Amino acid sequence: MDYLVGTHQFYRIGEIVDEMRSSRRPGMAVGFSRRWQELVPDPRARASAVTGYVSIMEGCDNFCSYCIVPFTRGREKHRPMAAILREAEQLAAGGFQEIVLLGQNVNHWQEPGGGERFPGLLRRLARLPVPWIRFITSYPGYHEPELVEVMADHRNLARHIHFPAQSGSTRILRKMDRDYSRAGYLKIIRAFRRAMPEMKFSSDFIVGFPGESERDFQLTLSLLDEVEYESVFSFIYSPRPHTRASAWNPELPSALARERLIALQEKQARIQLKNNRRLLGETLTILVSGKHPKKAGEMIGRSESQRVVNFASRTPVGGFARVRITGAGPHSLRGEEIPPTAHER
Ligand code: SF4
Repeated sequence: MDYLVGTHQFYRIGEIVDEMRSSRRPGMAVGFSRRWQELVPDPRARASAVTGYVSIMEGCDNFCSYCIVPFTRGREKHRPMAAILREAEQLAAGGFQEIVLLGQNVNHWQEPGGGERFPGLLRRLARLPVPWIRFITSYPGYHEPELVEVMADHRNLARHIHFPAQSGSTRILRKMDRDYSRAGYLKIIRAFRRAMPEMKFSSDFIVGFPGESERDFQLTLSLLDEVEYESVFSFIYSPRPHTRASAWNPELPSALARERLIALQEKQARIQLKNNRRLLGETLTILVSGKHPKKAGEMIGRSESQRVVNFASRTPVGGFARVRITGAGPHSLRGEEIPPTAHER
């Protein structure tokens, strides 16, 4: 190892490389900072010319009982709105089709020192000529009803939210130190759907959390049924150093935790298949993201709710195609491109 660099020192990377070159000695920069350090990627260094990722906050103050993030990424730091708008405007001027706002608790962003909050920031960003604006990851405990209004007012705020529930049992959510209940979570989902019936959700779930009973697990499965998520990331609980939960007896035999994970994933696959079959015959707007690695002439794209669609197309990467859905599996869709209408040409 030549140099150990902590997550809060990344903005000094150029300086650190210079230091390494001149001193040729191993070193370390691992200090935490409570202030936002501005670091905008060079446009040439961006991995995509289609989707631009814009960091708006980092860190977390929540200390969920299982999570190591507050220890590794530090406390929340928020980026000033002027810097966010500047970067987003540059992306819009550069022809980016999609902007993704990033933050551990993205919906808790606020102007450093007070003032504008996340819904207000979105309202400003939605004026940009960018077809899809997204944000990840939202913490349900920080939800503000104004977010629903702002999204309903602006069609370029994508109708998809990654909204990690982690469990469908309020008892387990309390043990996880998550600041919402099952009922509260579902109330938010219903509010989004009332304002935007086309709204879709994805989530993360942990199974086998210490003390998770069969009833708690069944509540998680029933939440999957109620929300009908587009996709779900699911994990077996594993203890992390420094966290409160790491001191608790897992209680759950690992074979049972594995069984629950498989049951959850099988249920979710059935839900996704049902969701995808509902789209047969529908026409979706698809952002072409790349060529199919195995099928010549085929492209891969994503829908507004992040469904993967394979279809033959001459639309270049980064363009939008209208695709009629002809086939549906649990993890992807097949379709055929249809010509633009006279109005769209
Ligand atoms: S799970 Fe999310 S909200 Fe909870 S401590 Fe970790 S990063 Fe923070």
